[in-house]
Amino acid sequence: MTLYRDSALVLRTWRLGESDRIVSMLGEKSGKIRAVVKGVRKTKSRFGSRLEPLSLVSLLCWKGRELDVVSQAETIELFKQTREDLDRLYKANVILEATEQIAQDGYSDPELFNLVVRVLRVLEADNPKMLLSSFIWKLLALQGYRPQMSVCVNCGSAGAMAGFDPAAGGVLCEEHANGKRVSTEAIKAISGSVGGQLAQILRIESSPVISETELLALQALEVVLERSLRTVRSSIVRH
Ligand SMILES: [Zn+2]
Repeated sequence: MTLYRDSALVLRTWRLGESDRIVSMLGEKSGKIRAVVKGVRKTKSRFGSRLEPLSLVSLLCWKGRELDVVSQAETIELFKQTREDLDRLYKANVILEATEQIAQDGYSDPELFNLVVRVLRVLEADNPKMLLSSFIWKLLALQGYRPQMSVCVNCGSAGAMAGFDPAAGGVLCEEHANGKRVSTEAIKAISGSVGGQLAQILRIESSPVISETELLALQALEVVLERSLRTVRSSIVRH
């Protein structure tokens, strides 16, 4: 077996037998990593709680055929504020779950790693209200599902758009917006999120556009993943 080193963000963990755990991580160089952590659930484990979801670690791993084996893990960042704040933690869990679902096995994607780590740092420091929806739109765009924001997804006409269809992944003209109407602000916010105006979009503070774009983002994400997100389902009480 060969040994490799990487920085990795822990996305999810599962129990394995009495004392081991399987950890799903996003490595900066390696892409999605699935590795066994031996003895992690013993009280004297040398890994302690370093390999919990939302930990950024420096990793030394044995490459395996199906699962790798963690040899060493040192904490780089714990995102403590996020862990102690329910609103931040909910957003972080959506970010981790979406990343876990969308990242492909064995495919190096440093751009994805950088996006996720950057967004978690902004969440930890500021928790801007538009962060979650902006992240999801960026994530979708990065993975090849950039929303169509200039012409109607139904008829291809240009001009003023009045609706958005998360299933078709784009805007709708006045004629086709039936039942899928959105505000002009939401269309601008989605366009801005994927069009390099993220800093501006994150300054949007308090208006219905935040919940409107977040709901559309989650719907579009669930269409792409072909399933609903565990985190979102279990936190309906939040709203
Ligand atoms: Zn149309």
